[in-house]
Parts: sequence; C-alpha cells; structure tokens
Amino acid sequence: MTEMAILAEAAAQQIEHFDVVIVGAGISGVGGAYHLTKQCPGTSFIVLEAQESFGGTWLTHRYPGTRSDSDLYTFGYRFKPWTSAPIATRAEILDYMGEVNTENGIDRHIRYRHTISVARWSSSDKLWTLEGTRTDTGETVRFTGNFLWMCQGYYRHSEGYMPEWRGMKDFEGRIVQPQNWPEDLDYAGKKIVVIGSGATAATLIPAIAAECGHVTMLQRSPTFFRTGRNAIPLADDLRELDIDAAWIHEIVRKKILYEQSVFTRRSFTEPETVKQELLAGVRAHLGPDYDVATHFTPRYRPWRQRIAFVPDGDFLEAIRSGKASVVTDEIESFTEAGILLKSGETLEADIIITATGFNLNVLGDIDFTIDGEPLNFSDTVTYRGMMFTGVPNMVWVFGYFRASWTLRADLVADFVCRLLNHLKEKGARQVTPTLRPEDQDMPLLPWIDPENFNPGYVIRGMHLLPKRGDKPEWQHTQDYWVEKDEFPAIDLDDGSFVYE
Ligand SMILES: Cc1cc2nc3c(=O)[nH]c(=O)nc-3n(C[C@H](O)[C@H](O)[C@H](O)COP(=O)(O)OP(=O)(O)OC[C@H]3O[C@@H](n4cnc5c(N)ncnc54)[C@H](O)[C@@H]3O)c2cc1C
Repeated sequence: MTEMAILAEAAAQQIEHFDVVIVGAGISGVGGAYHLTKQCPGTSFIVLEAQESFGGTWLTHRYPGTRSDSDLYTFGYRFKPWTSAPIATRAEILDYMGEVNTENGIDRHIRYRHTISVARWSSSDKLWTLEGTRTDTGETVRFTGNFLWMCQGYYRHSEGYMPEWRGMKDFEGRIVQPQNWPEDLDYAGKKIVVIGSGATAATLIPAIAAECGHVTMLQRSPTFFRTGRNAIPLADDLRELDIDAAWIHEIVRKKILYEQSVFTRRSFTEPETVKQELLAGVRAHLGPDYDVATHFTPRYRPWRQRIAFVPDGDFLEAIRSGKASVVTDEIESFTEAGILLKSGETLEADIIITATGFNLNVLGDIDFTIDGEPLNFSDTVTYRGMMFTGVPNMVWVFGYFRASWTLRADLVADFVCRLLNHLKEKGARQVTPTLRPEDQDMPLLPWIDPENFNPGYVIRGMHLLPKRGDKPEWQHTQDYWVEKDEFPAIDLDDGSFVYE
C-alpha cells in the first residue's frame, strides 16, 4: 500500500496515523518525544499513556518518601539541567518532567488514559496497528504508525509483586503493596512490618518511622547501601559562582559518571575492599555494637544488584533512633496478629507492607503479532538491547541498572532518530534486525548473565525476554561506558539491519 492509500484507509476507519507511535509517558517516553522534535523535525508522532498523567514510575509510586536512589544530574536528561540536591523527591521529578513537556510543546502530543493491548505489524502495509482502550470512556482506540517506540518501562504499573504466604487471609490487620499505596492509610502509632530490603523499604521506613509506633524491616537476606550527604559540593560551589546551569549540569554529570565508572570497576576488581567500604558507611551510622554482619552484609558481591543510596543515612538513623529495626529471617506464615518466622519468633503488626518488588512485564503486556503470527519475544535475539530479530520498525527502551536509567534512554533516543533519518535517506519503509550469515551458529544465551546481575524480578521474568548472542551487536551489555561510544558509531548498513 502506498503512503497515500494508508492515510486514506486510516481516515475511512477513523484510525489516526502517525510516523512514530511512542507507548509510555514516563521519563523514557517524554525524553523520546523531546529528541524526536529536535532530531527529526517534521515527524508526526503521538505518545500513548495508560495513566492519567505523565511521569510513569514517579506517578505510580505514591508511598511516603518516594524518591530517586540515583542522582538527578544523571537521572535527569542530558538536555535539561538539574539545579538542586542530587537525590530528588517524586514531586521534584514530576515538576522537572512537567517543565520538559511544557517548554517543548510535548504535552499536546500525549494521549492519557489510553491503554494499548494489541500491536499488529503488517509487512504488506509496512505499518503497526495499535489497539487499546480509553479507560475514561471505555472506547476502543486504534492508531497506525510506521515506527513503534516502546517506552513502557519494565514492570506492570497496575500491581506490584505479591508473593503468596501461608495464612495471609488470617491476618487481621491491613496488607499494603507500596505500588498501590492507599491514600487513607493511617499509620500513626501503629506497629508496622515492611517485608523486603530494597530501595523501596529504605526510603519508606525513614519517612514513616517518626509517626508510626514502630517499624520493622523484615528481610530474608541483606542488601548493600551507600551512604553520604545529599549534596554535591562541586555543584554548590559552581552555583555560588553563578556559573551557567547547563555548564554545571554537564560538569557534574561528567564527575559523577567518572566516579561511578571507578566504583563499578572496583566492584569487580576488588569486591572485598568495596564491600568493607560500604559496610563501614553503615557502621558509621549504627555504631560498633550493631550486628552489621547479620543485617547489612549481603551474600552477593557489590553491584550484582542495584545499590541504593541512602542520603544522609536517614534509613540507618531511623534504626539508630530505635523507631525502626531490622529482622533477618524467613516467613513461616502470616498469623492473625502478624507474622510467624521460621526461627519461631513472631512479629506483631497492625499493618504489613510488602515491599517485595515488581512484576516484570515485557513490552507493556501487549499482544504482539507479526503478519498474523503471535510474537514471543523469547524466540528473538536482542539487537544491543534495543531491537529484536525479526521484529520490524520497533525499538524498546530498557535503561541501565547500575547507572541512571535515563542515560540509556537518551542514547537509545539518539539511535532511534538516526535510524529514522537513515530510513528516510534510503527511501526505505522497513528495517528489521536480522542475524547475518556469520551470526547464524552463534550460541544463544539468556538475556542477561545472572552471574553479572540478578535481582529477583529479572530472574523471575528471564524466560519472557529475548536471547543474547556472543557478539556486541547481539548483547545487552548494561554498560554505559561502552555504549556511550559504541551507539553513536553503529554502522546502520553493517548487515544486521535488513531494509525494504
Ligand atoms: C520507586 C522507584 C525509584 C526508582 N529510582 C530510580 C533511580 O533513582 N534511578 C534510576 O535509574 N532508576 C530508578 N528507578 C527505575 C525506574 O523505573 C526507571 O529509572 C525509570 O523511571 C523508568 O522510566 P520509563 O519511562 O522507561 O518507564 P516507567 O516509568 O515505568 O513508565 C512507563 C509508562 O508506560 C506506561 N505504559 C506501560 N504499558 C503501557 C501500555 N500497554 N499502554 C499504555 N501505556 C503503557 C505506564 O503507564 C508508564 O506510565 C526507580 C524505580 C522505582 C519504582
């Protein structure tokens, strides 16, 4: 079908057509829209978002104390200076994203309350057809797009991961998932148990500790934390000197990235030293008598899971104050009054908060078909963690675990824009990542090496994810310091892409 015929047919069926359809208005989708307007001017696009506003993660998570665990100089976009303390609250991040939207006219491209459930690629039309529901009216909505940019994040926003424990129904108090925080939750003076020891627990606990009766963090095994001041003295000095905000942003990003690269490298080359440094940071807040060996010494080496930054040690200070405590044990069952532990100990609770992580969702719980055939992403091979073999005209954004997510969202956006411009120059309408003859016998491995990075939600969802090969093109490295140089240098005509 010609472009004119597609537009005519779409009009007849009241299907709106766009050059690019972005799914998701979180930090990746809003960033993608920005880059598209700057790097591919004249491209028509729409951003389809299930929720009632932009923000993604920062809209969904409303539990007390929701904040970033990485600095906003690198979690913020490359193009929009961050001008305050590095660890930011949910409200500050939403304000920042809102400014990006209004300053660049992105808001008028976003359709809220549009949940997409079906994506069909047609090779004869060289077009994606997306189908979904307007959650405010119940209407079915359809869009067509030449290119699909999936910015749906990595977890199901509607519900967090809730393991099944014996006796949960018997518990007479309230069970709360932080991802669906009830606005009416009154925790003043209450006994609270938070199950889990990740970033969510570490940010929630200091935020509620003062008001609740007591909060216990119940963990099966400990997690690494980094502590330090929520300030970057260099940024503050430069601001004092009235240096331009864009310069400060760039300089501070460079400094943070350099320091992170050293830290990441050391986690592999001298894991024991890094471990001792992290534990010393914890001890500095908890004092010499606290049992750091049991409650804060993980079994894995540093960086095999994300390390949450605890600004000003607030989580540890809550423990030191006696308002919060840590129990390292396993759950035998819930009881009417709380939790029975495998050790035989019991924890009384009025409220149990399950900070147990996410339900990984691959590509937004959308049913994908390619020319009528259901698409199973685990049958594909990843192209540098951005595209999938045999899936035309589609990119997904999956950010970094060890560095800020947005660093990769910016890099992927540059790649998408370059690819779109390349398609235009070539007069091609379809690009499909395809294994080259020399790649055919390559061993295929799980998407990410669990030895390298192994949080629960990734391991639980690995069977849904694409395979990886043993060459850079067919791997998702999770390494910013490699990708920042490799992505801009990708040869779009190296045979890994088939154009039609
Ligand atoms: C509490 C918390 C703190 C975090 N802190 C950090 C941090 O400090 N640093 C860091 O690097 N990372 C952090 N992360 C990870 C974080 O999720 C990512 O960094 C980033 O926010 C993801 O952005 P995103 O836009 O790719 O996806 P998301 O924020 O998940 O947004 C995706 C959007 O797509 C929409 N969507 C999904 N499927 C569909 C569909 N089918 N139809 C329509 N819309 C759809 C969703 O509604 C959502 O709004 C944190 C995560 C959490 C939960």
